[in-house]
Order: sequence, then C-alpha cells, then structure tokens
Amino acid sequence: MNPTHPRPTRLAALTGRCLCGAVTITVTGEHEEQVGACHCRMCQRWSGGLFLCFEAEASAVTVNGEVTRYRSSSFAERAFCPRCGSHLWFGDLAQDGEPRGYELTPGLFDAARHWPLRSELYADRAMDSVRLAGEHRRQTQAEYEAANPFVNRP
Ligand SMILES: [Zn+2]
Ligand SMILES: [Zn+2]
Repeated sequence: MNPTHPRPTRLAALTGRCLCGAVTITVTGEHEEQVGACHCRMCQRWSGGLFLCFEAEASAVTVNGEVTRYRSSSFAERAFCPRCGSHLWFGDLAQDGEPRGYELTPGLFDAARHWPLRSELYADRAMDSVRLAGEHRRQTQAEYEAANPFVNRP
C-alpha cells in the first residue's frame, strides 16, 4: 500500500488456503510479516467491515484452484474463491491485466495469525464497531488520497 514504508520481510515459504480448500496460495519469495488494514468504503463492503492484507511480490505468489477476479476499479482487482467466497487478495493491475503485486488476506495463512498490525488506511472512516488500538501508523482518507490521487480515478 505504501511502497516507501520500511517493513520486515521474510523469505520462508508460506502456504494458505480458502475455507473450502479449493484454492491454495503459496508464497515462496519476499513478503511482509505484518498486516495492513483498510477502512475505505469499498473494503468495508467487500470484507464485511475491515479489510486486512499483507504484501507479496507478484513473482513470489503461486495460486492453485479456480479463482474469481472482480475488477473493483480502473486500476485494481479483488479475488475470491467462487465456491466458498473466501477473500483471497486485492491487487493493483499492470498493463497486461495481471496483478503487479498481491495484498493477500492474512486469514488464509496459519503463519500470519501472530503478525502485528502495521498500518491503518482511512482510519477516520472506520466503522464504530471496528476500532483498532495501538501505536501503528494511521492515515486518514484525506491523507491517503492526497498521496495516492489515482484512487479517485473513475
Ligand atoms: Zn473456497
Ligand atoms: Zn480499502
């Protein structure tokens, strides 16, 4: 979400799966070991209230099983298992229509259960029922959209 933000990474392989097991995702290269949260209106609708993710290089991610990819904006997609509905990733798209990187949902991966929260986007837009405590980085809607003007592209 913010490529300039320093973050701990690990090269150990990770494997995750959706609720029904039809989709498995393996991460074999560089990825974060911390979690970002987004409270934007699109993420609230898609996730049911709060979207969580961790970043992985496109070349590091292998997906097995059928996936439905929804083009949620001009520059990004959201993917889910067509059988059980588990959310798999958000991805900014390159010119060829493939993700330039993955923001994978941590709940798929047992290894992610104890990773810390790194940041909150749209922190001022959080639902009243979803308030995240702690000293992590926070950006308001105005701050995030000023730094990322493409998010308002129609
Ligand atoms: Zn599934
Ligand atoms: Zn969002």
